[in-house]
Amino acid sequence: MASLQNLVAPHSKHRVSYFYSEEVGNFHYGEYHPMKPHRLTLTTDLVLRYDLHKKLDMFEPRKATEEEMLQFHASDYIGFLKRVTPENADQFANVFQQFNLGGDSPIFEGMFDFCKYYTGASLEAARKLLSGGADIAINWSGGLHHAKKWEASGFCYVNDIVLAILQLLRYHPRVLYIDIDVHHGDGVQEAFYLTDRVMTVSFHKYGNDFFPGTGSSLEAGKGLGQYYSLNIPLKDGIDDPAYLNLFKTIIGETIEKFKPSAIVLQCGADSLGLDRLGVFNLSISAHGECVKFVKSFQLPLLLLGGGGYTIRNVSRCWTYETSIAVDVTLDNQIPEDSLYYNYFGPDHTLHPKISGRRDNLNTRQQLEKIKVKALEHLKNLIHAPSVQMQEIPPDIQGFLDAHQHQQADEMDDIHPDLQKHLRPRLSLLPQHGLSDCLDSGDELTFSESEDQCAKKPKKT
Ligand SMILES: [Zn+2]
Repeated sequence: MASLQNLVAPHSKHRVSYFYSEEVGNFHYGEYHPMKPHRLTLTTDLVLRYDLHKKLDMFEPRKATEEEMLQFHASDYIGFLKRVTPENADQFANVFQQFNLGGDSPIFEGMFDFCKYYTGASLEAARKLLSGGADIAINWSGGLHHAKKWEASGFCYVNDIVLAILQLLRYHPRVLYIDIDVHHGDGVQEAFYLTDRVMTVSFHKYGNDFFPGTGSSLEAGKGLGQYYSLNIPLKDGIDDPAYLNLFKTIIGETIEKFKPSAIVLQCGADSLGLDRLGVFNLSISAHGECVKFVKSFQLPLLLLGGGGYTIRNVSRCWTYETSIAVDVTLDNQIPEDSLYYNYFGPDHTLHPKISGRRDNLNTRQQLEKIKVKALEHLKNLIHAPSVQMQEIPPDIQGFLDAHQHQQADEMDDIHPDLQKHLRPRLSLLPQHGLSDCLDSGDELTFSESEDQCAKKPKKT
């Protein structure tokens, strides 16, 4: 695995496209909700202040259409998302449970537009890779990996990742999906659970009813997809060396065995230390090292966002990862002309110390066992599946049907199984204390020295 990487010379110049709508940062999940789309405004402001836009092509994507969303999602679910608003929500109360709305995934003003923006950006990014117009395409507003075909989940309504991968599958025989969010990438795994053309690999916290409750190493795919789902379940507090050792060993081996022709990397930043909802201990530098490692294989690469709830660190992380994409070394001092400079105090650095604050509950023996198990799993990928490239129907069902028509009966057996066993309904929201810390008017942060709330005034 390391040998494969050694064969690949460091790439000095990548063509990078960055997709961003100004509007996407202006939506609000609600005053007490930890998901803050404003983090996207912070990120792009930092990207601009560091002059990274001069090294990449920046695009304002168009919004996704309903028709595009229906390539994965059920029509009654999308119809519901389209019609429901905070004002008329009462009329739809009878289907809230069916579509898993409310609680984690609230109905807020402009919700469907928000979905159109982040989904449109992922679709445009995938198409830019397909057209050969970029080697790396970035959409930090995307990566909403929990959304399911029939329902919302964990702050996610429309699964832009599944839709982007479906685009890539039109021309790419095999797509590798990697997820470094602290939560299991359940929505993407479930969508491609039956196929060998998409391999999903997720590194996440697992156990003690941590959301979404799925992602054990026993979930490995079914039918043609058997062994094409790989889960790396971890405990609280994993640190940089342990995480990078696992990541590089497992991803290196996965790429060698699966031989993807394109990679989608979900860069959820809630795996960073001090994340409000996360439980890992990673530094921004180690998180970025995962991007660097994946990029070193020089395959068309789609970089997406995801979770991330201590928003000053989310924007630091995704800015740093943008700099990795364009091969630029950034000054550790946050540019003083940043519109949100005060968010980054007191140190005003890109790489504050955010790791090492949580005990690492992963023992050396457990980690070794996880690695050995993953490598055993990968031995089952005897050879990269070859596909006859034919015109692929543009929706998930058409794709799966064309790909696995011989397994149509089995599909009927598997879907209820996926629903029952892979989908407990847990909550991503913390069970205590958030409302004490949140206030609608101010940007809110936890102090870095202790998990206490601290208000930081906006500069603008
Ligand atoms: Zn997450």
